[in-house]
Amino acid sequence: MDKAKELQKIREDMERDKNLPLISKPEDIIPGDGNPGAEIVFIGEAGGYHESIQRKPFVGNAGKFLDQLLRSINIPRESVYITNMVKTRPPENRDPLPEELETYSKYLDREIEVIQPKVIVTLGRFSMGKFLPTARISGVHGKKFVVKWKDKDLVIVPMYHPAAALRNGEVMRQIREDFLKLPSILEEMKNKEDEVGQLKTEQMKLV
Ligand code: URA
Repeated sequence: MDKAKELQKIREDMERDKNLPLISKPEDIIPGDGNPGAEIVFIGEAGGYHESIQRKPFVGNAGKFLDQLLRSINIPRESVYITNMVKTRPPENRDPLPEELETYSKYLDREIEVIQPKVIVTLGRFSMGKFLPTARISGVHGKKFVVKWKDKDLVIVPMYHPAAALRNGEVMRQIREDFLKLPSILEEMKNKEDEVGQLKTEQMKLV
C-alpha cells in the first residue's frame, strides 16, 4: 500500500474507533495533514476551534505563525506533514490529559511508521514529552536528539509551541532562531543516510 493510502486508512480507523476520548462523531477527528513523503513531521498538541471546523491541524493563529516560520526557511507547508498528539479539540482548549495522550498515541505511532521522517519537530511540551519525557523545553529547544523508538533511531528537534510564541516576545525570538537551524539539521540527516546507503552498497559488492 502506498503512503497516502496508509495514512487514509489511519484516518478511517480513527473515525471508527469507539474508544477514542473527546469524540462524539467521526467528524470530530482532526487528522494529520500534509505530504505523505515528508522529510519533516511537526507534532503539536491538539486542535482548537478553527482546526475543528476545517478538520486540519494548525489553521488558526498558531498555524498562520507556523506558516510564516516555514516560509522563513523556504520550506513549503505542502512539503511537510503536520499532526497533533490528540486528534480532536479538547473542551475549552484545555490541556490534554495523560490518558488522552496515551489513547491517541497509537495513531501517531502509525503515522510516524508510515512516513518515516528524517526529522521530527515537536511543538510544545506535550509532544516533546512523548520522546524526551524528562526534558525541560527551556533547556532543549532547537537542539537535535537521537531517540530510540521501536528499534529505530528518530531525530527529534523540540521547539516551543507557536501559540506560546504569540503570547511572549522572547519565545517568539527563540522559535524564529530555532527554525533557522532546521535546514542544516535536515541536510545533515540526509548526508548521513547517503553515507550509510553507500556503505551498504560497498558491503554488498564485497560479499
Ligand atoms: N495548536 C496545536 O497544538 N495544534 C493545532 O492543530 C492547533 C493549535
